[in-house]
Amino acid sequence: MRILVVEDENNLASALVKLLEGQNYLAEAVHDGQSGLDYALSGQYDAMILDVMLPGLSGFEVASALRKEGLDLPILMLTARDKVTDKVRGLDSGADDYLTKPFTTEELLARVRALLRRQGAVQMDTLTFGDLSLSLDASTLSCQDRQVRLSRKEQEVMRILMSLPPSHIISKDELIMKVWGADSEAVDNNVEAYVSFLRKKLFYLNSAVQIVAQRRLGYSLEYTAC
Ligand code: CA
Repeated sequence: MRILVVEDENNLASALVKLLEGQNYLAEAVHDGQSGLDYALSGQYDAMILDVMLPGLSGFEVASALRKEGLDLPILMLTARDKVTDKVRGLDSGADDYLTKPFTTEELLARVRALLRRQGAVQMDTLTFGDLSLSLDASTLSCQDRQVRLSRKEQEVMRILMSLPPSHIISKDELIMKVWGADSEAVDNNVEAYVSFLRKKLFYLNSAVQIVAQRRLGYSLEYTAC
């Protein structure tokens, strides 16, 4: 799950990113309205935390521009003032929920989870594929009685592969977009490195699931039951 944070207070923005990463979300922060809009329009996020008072475009303007573009990215709006008009305006502009500053981290995380759940982009606790089971809470991949821990990026690559429709192939570019972000420096080599880490772990797990490289197309996940 990839979450975009749009917040101009740098300290708060980095605290939010850290908090979300601690919960195994991938999070990225931008600090003004226009960047928030541009990043959100890239379509690579599952949810957005959007401050109202921003340089450039306000949070209201960002939300309504996104809705006008037909993007249904779930938005949690952060309002500094506990004003009914701000909340109403936020919801009218297309936000799904709002949170008044200051807020507790527990409350923010609960709202984010609710948002993702509502979206159906729900963070299921466990994904299964073939003989594998991926626990998103514990960041572990298991096969029968063996278990390995995954790093955040390994987990995200594995989650994406395990969520692909049957016999679907995902390209390296798409994986880079989803895991590293559109303007990251990541290249094909990064994807290949993570696929190779994951293959070693699958080997250790003695799993019958394989990450198959499809020449020039990308990767798919295959399960050969014996
Ligand atoms: Ca602000």
